Amino acid sequence: TQRNHRDAALRDRARQVIPGGLWGHLNAANLPAGYPQYFARAEGCRLWDVDGREVVDFMCAWGPVVLGHHHPAVEEAARRQAALGDCMNGPAPVLVDLAEMLVATIPHAAWCLLEKNGTDATTACVTIARAGTGRRKVLVARGSYHGAVPWCSPSLAGVTAEDRAHIAYYDYNDVASAQAAAEQAKGDLAAIIVTAFRHDMARALELPDPAFAQALRDICDREGAALILDDVRAGFRLDLGGSWETVGVRPDLAAYSKAIANGHALAAVTGAERFREAVTKVYTTGSFWCAAVPMAAALATLQELHRIDGPARMRAMGERLRKGLDALSARHGVTIRQSGPAQMPLVLFEGDEGFRLGNAFCSAALEAGAYFHPRHNMFLSCAHTEADIDRALQAADAGFAAVARLG
Ligand code: PMP
Repeated sequence: TQRNHRDAALRDRARQVIPGGLWGHLNAANLPAGYPQYFARAEGCRLWDVDGREVVDFMCAWGPVVLGHHHPAVEEAARRQAALGDCMNGPAPVLVDLAEMLVATIPHAAWCLLEKNGTDATTACVTIARAGTGRRKVLVARGSYHGAVPWCSPSLAGVTAEDRAHIAYYDYNDVASAQAAAEQAKGDLAAIIVTAFRHDMARALELPDPAFAQALRDICDREGAALILDDVRAGFRLDLGGSWETVGVRPDLAAYSKAIANGHALAAVTGAERFREAVTKVYTTGSFWCAAVPMAAALATLQELHRIDGPARMRAMGERLRKGLDALSARHGVTIRQSGPAQMPLVLFEGDEGFRLGNAFCSAALEAGAYFHPRHNMFLSCAHTEADIDRALQAADAGFAAVARLG
């Protein structure tokens, strides 16, 4: 449409110089009709695309933005550190402040390691578990996303069988399948890796059954393996101490990224005492891993999340959204299924072959001022207020009307 003309022009140019227009999960080719690829500006929980449309944002950069875009305290801390130095011959003092803060905040953690991306963190957890146990096998839940490298990538293009030779699979929330996979790996089991909740794309989200979480803990204790919590997506939204505090199970190693620095590039591995020695043996580093600005941003982010009890605030706003969507869908005679923690919700439509209804809902809601996602869990931030949720519900009303028209 005329409305998306700047976006379309950028996409045309990009097609020549960027394969497929864009790599990865932010490629708007996978989004409903009318969704823009390029954004001009962001503030709080609002986004402006390059054609000037303003929307209430429910993806938050797919997780990183937890306090809201451009949070003043975070940006002030980042600016102050930037004025002193960012990428130097070693870290700034803020590394130690941040490491102490992480170890004090996360009960299972005796130490931490800082990196850049979630994939760095999950991959380091696997390597540390193997180094610490002297074993090879790693159990992964079928369909769980842990990153974009050969041991775990959802695409098999460029991946060899050898890359996956010591990866075995179980089903999320299925104790018997985890026990069977552990039995197969007996004597060679290095780790079980598990996400905070089941958030596979395009299906209802599932919270972890506490008995399942405890069973994974028991298997790892019995076999001397590491329980790895992949908290990259949910970390710092559900519980500041780690997402499995909600089910009372503590991992040996955990991977964080996304929300840790409110949009600045940082990831962390936290670990139990038992793996401290192994970390010193694994060669793990990167050119930008000691950069100080993201660490200053992370410290300010964690302080603010503690100060305002960020998880409780996001839960309250997520619950307001959920209640509002239930009421609106009922008024339009449309049946939806909402799932996941309130801070990271998903809305699916009953009998929605090919996401025809979900896409129609999202396209109409976008036009009316809210950016939702039809298949992937969404993200609340601490910048969402009751007024923003109510504004988004007006947009959702237009979305449900579009679905009702489709019949
Ligand atoms: N694990 C989980 C659960 C994730 O959601 C993601 C990112 N979506 C990753 C790992 C990988 O993180 P990154 O994209 O930062 O490498």
